[in-house]
Amino acid sequence: MRILVQKFGGTSLSSPQAREYVISHIRRELNEDYNLVVVVSAMGRRGEPYATDTLLEWIAQNGDALPAREKDLLLSCGEIISATTLCSLLESNGIASTVLTGAQAGFETNDHYGNARIVDIHPARIIEEFKKHKVVIVTGFQGQTITGDITTLGRGGSDTTATALGAALQAEMVDIYTDVNGVLTADPRIVEDARPISHVSYTEICNMAYQGAKVIHPRAVEIAMQAQIPVRIRSTFSEDEGTLVTNPEGFRDVQSGVVDRLVTGIAYVSNVTQITVDCGDGSSNLQLKVFKSMAENSISVDFINVTTTGAVYTVFDHHSERALSILQQLGFRPKSISGCAKVSIIGGGINGVPGIMAKIVESLSEQHIQILQSADSNTTIWVLVKKEDMVQSLRSLHSTFELNR
Ligand code: ADP
Ligand code: MG
Repeated sequence: MRILVQKFGGTSLSSPQAREYVISHIRRELNEDYNLVVVVSAMGRRGEPYATDTLLEWIAQNGDALPAREKDLLLSCGEIISATTLCSLLESNGIASTVLTGAQAGFETNDHYGNARIVDIHPARIIEEFKKHKVVIVTGFQGQTITGDITTLGRGGSDTTATALGAALQAEMVDIYTDVNGVLTADPRIVEDARPISHVSYTEICNMAYQGAKVIHPRAVEIAMQAQIPVRIRSTFSEDEGTLVTNPEGFRDVQSGVVDRLVTGIAYVSNVTQITVDCGDGSSNLQLKVFKSMAENSISVDFINVTTTGAVYTVFDHHSERALSILQQLGFRPKSISGCAKVSIIGGGINGVPGIMAKIVESLSEQHIQILQSADSNTTIWVLVKKEDMVQSLRSLHSTFELNR
């Protein structure tokens, strides 16, 4: 049985013209004799009638006291509206289809409302519908606990629905349709000459996604990687094939130059605060105290450098006030710089290649941009800059590594 999973994001479903494109992608793959699962997100973005953010605002306007379980019940409506809209359009185009909610599609999750984890998938119902020659539209982002309560999977949850179904059904491919032509070398909203990348490895796209490139959710990539299902990220509004995500072995033959690529892309996370804590003589107990206190207060920390005399790390700006006051209560005198951005230079090819950090420092210092902190792993180099330098940093590094070519 040839199975293909297609996922359409919010902007891909938000207007009649967009939905025409969606139907044409569905029709094309049906002509290729695929059994199709079509995963949909809620239509549109913040401010539009049935978008998830709009539903959240609606709750906020009405006291904001809705318990987490009931909030998930409401949030699950956005996908039901877009799925039934698409079903109606397909039927009027002579394409037989049916809608399954996350629960009906077999998604069993834990009861962590708002950010539930998939525990198991039982896709038998989908297979039954294939036998009736129907396109199976599945509402993304949803699951159900063992006790039958509706849950949602968190931000980017529909991406996870798509790759999890791809894995459970052993699909040939998962196509993630969005409003850009695939994974680009940088966020096109900031770097105008960002270019689509034809192939990336699961690891590279996962790193990019964790470092802020929101084109696909990193959890979705991890699931695809574990199951070794190829993923394609592509535009709803064109026939271009977009970006293919596989293991590096999967594209070595396809395009020889690719493995020689040094840097694949640049991503960023903004609105973070750098905190520096002096631990005096460097007693590790004090450093332990710092990180334990953050963990106990559910403040996630990132970009951690521990030195002999203290620690430097970042928290999100919206956590910084709380983090600083906790440290002060413990007797520390923390210093902080708020409004920073973490810029990540990502590439499977940078491992062990000398001179990359020198290139980064040169590129930024030519622009008079101060590096507040840096770190590296074998696939990523991170630099922390002030927020006002972020745009210039991204553009400068993008051209230094010739990503626009
Ligand atoms: P969808 O609603 O289809 O899930 P998203 O907004 O989640 O769409 O993801 C697509 C957006 O991701 C693009 O419009 C783009 O602005 C943003 N983006 C950020 N970084 C990148 C990148 N490196 N490549 C492509 N898109 C990116
Ligand atoms: Mg998305």
